[in-house]
Amino acid sequence: MNLPEDFVFSPSSLQDYVDCPRRFQLKYLQRQRWPAAEVDEMLEFEKRMEQGQRFHQLVHQHLLGIPADTLTKHISDESVRQWFETYLKNGLTDMPKTRFPERTLTIPLGKYALLAKFDVVAIGDKAIIIDWKTSRKIPRREWLAKKLQTIVYRYVLAKGGSHLNKGQTIEPEQIEMRYWYAEHDGATLSFTYDKEQFATHEANLLHLVDEIDSRPDFPLTEDMPRCRFCTYRSLCDRGTQAGSLVDWDTMDTDDVDLADFEIDIDQIAEIEF
Ligand code: SF4
Repeated sequence: MNLPEDFVFSPSSLQDYVDCPRRFQLKYLQRQRWPAAEVDEMLEFEKRMEQGQRFHQLVHQHLLGIPADTLTKHISDESVRQWFETYLKNGLTDMPKTRFPERTLTIPLGKYALLAKFDVVAIGDKAIIIDWKTSRKIPRREWLAKKLQTIVYRYVLAKGGSHLNKGQTIEPEQIEMRYWYAEHDGATLSFTYDKEQFATHEANLLHLVDEIDSRPDFPLTEDMPRCRFCTYRSLCDRGTQAGSLVDWDTMDTDDVDLADFEIDIDQIAEIEF
């Protein structure tokens, strides 16, 4: 057994494993802190991270009932102001009225647990999961469909969301996962769900966990471009130079996995040392 008994998987940790087994080992088994910067322009990187965090905080406060006018008065960053105005315009389109902001669900997964932290879940006839995105680019739909976040969020809600639904099971067919892009006037990419996908995802996730737990070693990825934006590259002898923020902004999401570098508040929050 490679994993401690109380190990809790998340979309980020599973994605790390799929992208590079060695990264999973360094981050979650050996608990190595960041030995290197992700990108060359750390100040800009940190600024974007703070903007994303601020936007998520504003939306959370709004969904808890603080009036938009009160919140808007205290926004000093122009990008964040525009994102928040876009959210007020269309961020909640078609959302059922019962909304659970910043909600975490944890379910069993084999011998371990699986956690999903939702920006918002709205429950009615439909159950809509919203993930707020402040990234510069909208990824390709086919790419996003394969991401562990898209898979895990819907699976966890179907498997363990009944207490958000007055004790009633949420059927897969009720579920929609919606990515909402603040930088793109609230454009969305949505993914529906059904029983067939649910069964496939369950089998694949259990298989993945068994593989992680029983494998004899954790090899470095053969997909070398991934290492450009990975904080562990010096430990792996995969270069010492941080990847370029400009390169990342302009590259295709199939070139290097966006999850390696996307300033994703949920991912950052999930990394607990
Ligand atoms: S530098 Fe490359 S091989 Fe090493 S952990 Fe990161 S992605 Fe994996």
